[in-house]
Amino acid sequence: MAPRRVADSFGGYRARLVEQLRAQGVADLAVLRAFGEIPRHRFVPAVLERQAYEDTSLPIGSGQTISQPSTQARYLEALQLAGTERVLEIGTGSGYQAALLSMLASHVVSIERIPALAARAKATLAELGIDNVLVVTGDGSLGWRPNAPYEAVLVAAAAPSVPQPLLDQLRAGGRLVAAIAHGERQRLVRLTRTAAGADREDLGPAQFVPLIGRHGYDAGGAAEVRDR
Ligand code: SAM
Repeated sequence: MAPRRVADSFGGYRARLVEQLRAQGVADLAVLRAFGEIPRHRFVPAVLERQAYEDTSLPIGSGQTISQPSTQARYLEALQLAGTERVLEIGTGSGYQAALLSMLASHVVSIERIPALAARAKATLAELGIDNVLVVTGDGSLGWRPNAPYEAVLVAAAAPSVPQPLLDQLRAGGRLVAAIAHGERQRLVRLTRTAAGADREDLGPAQFVPLIGRHGYDAGGAAEVRDR
């Protein structure tokens, strides 16, 4: 679902970001198109608007960040979406990645544990006329059963291990992409659900904020890792 087009003066910056992503090896045309359409500056605090199209993470309040575009592009490519899927995203944050997903999938359910962030993301998505994203507040490590099963699950935070409820809510053949702790470091992994369980692929290093929840870290004891 393409967002309602809004006239803004950031089109050139978006085009430059798309070129940077392409130069870094992002090849999925649908992913590049989404970055060219979704106005990232609407998902960051007004004082940071001018930095919105740099390939960097930015603070969004409540101690959280909107992730670096190249990191998000890597996640989105790894999901291998055809456009027809029902996708579950854990970690709505600003709602930007959910907006990108809205153009790459049929339906998106996005879960955020911090109510203030969920409320703001919901409002921004509505202002942009994006109507195929459902934002809910809760512990995303438990998944979201009412809309399961999903063809793809994206965990935009780092977990100590793959949360079992998320695998349970994945349809056979579906993909789950998450940052998983590996000692002191993290690895981006893709799990593909099979009849027997799941095939696991390592997609390289990752650096994300911790997933806080029943199948994640304790709020107090989370490793201090920063999203880039
Ligand atoms: N995708 C976001 C965006 O485009 O702005 C950025 C995600 S930010 C790196 C990670 C988010 O995960 C934070 O907003 C954090 O509050 C959220 N989070 C952490 N643990 C969570 C959980 N168990 N359930 C839902 N959200 C969680």
